[in-house]
Amino acid sequence: VNSQEIWTREDDYQNSFLIPQDDALDFATENSSKNELPQIAVSPAQGKFLYLIAKSIGAKRVLEVGTLGGYSAIWLSRALPPDGDLVTLESEEKHAMVARQNLDNAGADISARVKIILGSATDSLVQLKCVPRPFDLAFIDADKSGFLTYYTEAKRLVRSGGVILIDNMVRRGGPSDPTNTEPANVKIRELLQLIKDDKEVEATTISTVGVKGYDGFTYILRK
Ligand code: SAM
Repeated sequence: VNSQEIWTREDDYQNSFLIPQDDALDFATENSSKNELPQIAVSPAQGKFLYLIAKSIGAKRVLEVGTLGGYSAIWLSRALPPDGDLVTLESEEKHAMVARQNLDNAGADISARVKIILGSATDSLVQLKCVPRPFDLAFIDADKSGFLTYYTEAKRLVRSGGVILIDNMVRRGGPSDPTNTEPANVKIRELLQLIKDDKEVEATTISTVGVKGYDGFTYILRK
């Protein structure tokens, strides 16, 4: 049995105890695939992890960079109180449209909590007001070319004691391989250096294996 088969089997096994079948999430996955969106949403276990982080810190306002079909947005918005909101940024019109369908299907209360801003995330971020810093949690899950800007903007927008989570930071061990000069890995190295020198945050990277292969996320506490 290869490693991926074990990782998928184990994810499925653990999920069978911890994550009940869910019509809204299944619809989001199927509708996204029917509309030919790339299959790069977070996994069920990761989605629930986002939900649990948001709940654990009592998040009321969440920022997401990279909506895709709204799979992670459904998880995150479910963690919010009725007056909470999720602002999610997406550059592809079709992705935003499918996300809205999926959110509507998840329930009027969920959908009403989510604002999708269409456009380049960099442009959208600079227009978000930061006084007082409004967000409790930021989830960065878009193009790696924008990682440094997304991190800097998230820092500007997340309150003290808030959390910034960055997905896809491990990429099958690419960043630590000096012969691997893929642009995404170069950006990750730059971002790690930026975080290292930043006295306003504390951070750690957790590697993960599972249905989505070998990757990891960086958890950053905004001081
Ligand atoms: N968070 C989603 C989930 O787990 O369901 C997955 C997001 S997917 C990995 C990344 C998304 O970022 C894609 O929908 C892509 O179109 C969007 N994206 C890529 N570059 C972008 C940019 N410069 N500005 C805004 N969105 C961008």
